Amino acid sequence: MRAEVIAIGDELTTGQRLDTNTQWLSQRLTELGVQVAFHTTITDELADNVAAFRAAINRVDIVVATGGLGPTADDLTRDAIAAATNTELVCDEASLMHIKSLFASRGRQMPERNEVQADFPVGSVPIFNPHGTAPGIEMSMVGEDGKRCTLFALPGVPAEMFEMWEATVAPRILALQPEPRVIRHRRIKCFGVGESTLEAMLPDLIRRDREPRVGITVSDATLTLRITATGRDEATCFAAMEPTIATIYESLGDLVFGEEDDELQHTVIRLLAERNLTLAVEDWATGELLTGWLAAADEESHVYRTNPNPSADLVAELAAQPHSVAAAIEIAERVRRETQADIGLGIAAFPAQTEGPEAHIYAALALPGQTRKLCFSCAAHPSIVHSRTAKQALNALRLALV
Ligand code: AMP
Ligand code: MG
Repeated sequence: MRAEVIAIGDELTTGQRLDTNTQWLSQRLTELGVQVAFHTTITDELADNVAAFRAAINRVDIVVATGGLGPTADDLTRDAIAAATNTELVCDEASLMHIKSLFASRGRQMPERNEVQADFPVGSVPIFNPHGTAPGIEMSMVGEDGKRCTLFALPGVPAEMFEMWEATVAPRILALQPEPRVIRHRRIKCFGVGESTLEAMLPDLIRRDREPRVGITVSDATLTLRITATGRDEATCFAAMEPTIATIYESLGDLVFGEEDDELQHTVIRLLAERNLTLAVEDWATGELLTGWLAAADEESHVYRTNPNPSADLVAELAAQPHSVAAAIEIAERVRRETQADIGLGIAAFPAQTEGPEAHIYAALALPGQTRKLCFSCAAHPSIVHSRTAKQALNALRLALV
């Protein structure tokens, strides 16, 4: 089954409020085995809402809408659904009683305006809202091509929406499924190449009609392969992903550094702990970024030693050449010596010019018995050049450890 999520509100389309309901609903639908094919966000304009509902009813099996069920003149979801399905609105007495009783329990008289919240398109069923005045709407209809579509309209207030989803909508969607389906994901994390290079290394795994499905996303130079499987239960999904995951590991080798929420620093800390090694860092390039990541990944300071004396006693010629390879070597060896760590990582300062193919940054790994020079390209968008450098250094350290 395919679904569409419709989020309604001027506050969303103007960017004043982030549409978190769509993300939440999409995650829940996916967990139930429903493929979310469309996200639609609309202003509080009747004609736009009617058009959006008509389009959705004709193209998917399940529509979940959020917002626009309040009592004010800009809350148009009830009218939009009635217009899109060519029905009238009628008052539901039970819902009206509930709204009145909610006001009474708060010691208030229901304003006349709130009466509209008990109006429902003919043929629809109210979805009970225990803690709010806006009941939801469930309605089943037949689209232009004879396809059945079930629509659920829920309030925009996240807490009310969550509660109504759990109590009413999720069980209804499960009951609509011809057979129980779930969708599960796994994520494999890689670093060291661009996304098209990564894709070329995988034997036709990114094909859209493939099952399980594989997708690639990039964030700050970290590549994530997302594997998605649909099956009758969780165990079936995970079993179906195994051969694909084995192919990914075989094809990518040590470009893969972790899975799920792993970041490079978690892998590095794990590898150091497994090998009983300690690490200290002197970093002139990324600010507190790299050291902050490492400290957070090693909360109990088992393997990461903070540098007690950063940038102290700078030798004059190093201060004049803070971006040189000599500076990188010197600080890597010095931080290793001063902290008595097994490994010292030094990152020299960025060159004056960080743009263009010639721009490089130097780092060094002081290991027991030898120091390795490292040189990374600075070619990245200025907004990610710091995080990419930190990741390049972590990745070089990871590769030295494996
Ligand atoms: P409404 O049901 O349209 O009256 O929305 C009530 C409130 O819920 C709004 O003022 C927003 O603060 C919040 N809200 C509505 N839609 C969303 C959404 N898609 N994501 C997050 N919050 C929302
Ligand atoms: Mg609204």
